[in-house]
Amino acid sequence: MGFSDYRGNSEVVEALRGMLARDRLPHSLIFAGPSGVGKYTLALMLARAIHCVDNIGLVGSDGPQDFCGHCFNCRLLDAVGDRRAAVAHAELEREALSKRPREIPLIIQPHPDVTIFAPNGPLRLFQIEQARHLKQSLEFVATGKQRRIFILPDADRMDAAAANSLLKSLEEPPADTVLILTTSSDAALLPTIRSRCVPLWFSPVSTAEIATFLNERGVGENQKEREWRAAVTGGSPGAALRLDRERYLIQRDALLSLLTAGATGPNFAELLTQAQKLSGKDESLENLLEILYILFQDILHIESKANGEPLRNSDRPKTLVQVAHALGVEGLRKAAANLDMIERNLRRNVPARLSLEALALGLAEAGSPSRRIS
Ligand SMILES: [Zn+2]
Repeated sequence: MGFSDYRGNSEVVEALRGMLARDRLPHSLIFAGPSGVGKYTLALMLARAIHCVDNIGLVGSDGPQDFCGHCFNCRLLDAVGDRRAAVAHAELEREALSKRPREIPLIIQPHPDVTIFAPNGPLRLFQIEQARHLKQSLEFVATGKQRRIFILPDADRMDAAAANSLLKSLEEPPADTVLILTTSSDAALLPTIRSRCVPLWFSPVSTAEIATFLNERGVGENQKEREWRAAVTGGSPGAALRLDRERYLIQRDALLSLLTAGATGPNFAELLTQAQKLSGKDESLENLLEILYILFQDILHIESKANGEPLRNSDRPKTLVQVAHALGVEGLRKAAANLDMIERNLRRNVPARLSLEALALGLAEAGSPSRRIS
């Protein structure tokens, strides 16, 4: 157990270990890269290396290089390794505490010196209350000799008020702290935040590496399924591991029929049925958007006549080609703009059904009559 369990992005891992060993770890870091690639996992591993019982006392030029994975501190931090589960658990605890849970900042503290401030609530946002709590926490001193770690996953989901209130803390954090912000959308972070942090860039992990990783974890019926998982999730080991295959296929095929209907003619009855089916009670729009982005990548790929690279949804080439031809480049551009609009709506709590209907209608307008297929 240790950093050798981490998959992919070995340069980033080595860079961090080097900084740690030489006691040159920056006070504010940004981990930027695709969703599910392992940014949060590595942030937690770094926290374990700093707080592993084996490493306590190692400071200065002979700092920690790895972690044991089984001491008390390592196990405490491992308990929040599944971020979604940790956030869901913290949300439940918060609901039990108060009638107005959203007014209490969501804080996950697996260890006295390791705190996680994750986006939360139906809109998955980082709250101003969390920013305030973080600022206050930074004023305290560490309980032990080791550094305090603050992890802010998906820091791009912070609104301007929360971000601005943190600027000073990011510029001059106390000497004994390390702040780690992760993001899959570096451009969405305020420039003032970006300029105050040292960035580390994560790349997608190769299909072969992910397939091996899934095999070790006992996920996927066969090699073909493991490779499909790697392709669909765009080189993200965490996302490939978590992907609910059956559910993905149902959602993806429903979205594809929505796209086909929208792109090939304004069949409103079908659009509405699909939109309603898609925005069923337990379906988050965020999930659907993620799948739509993957589909658009494939469609763009076909329309730009890119060669060599396989489609991410390699099991649906015919339908994808159909949609790509019906939409054309201009239609795609409009559809992508619509998708961005939906993403913004999502953050403003506009009902999913309205957004999806708008997307379908936008597509119907985008597909020019001459390009429509019968
Ligand atoms: Zn340990």
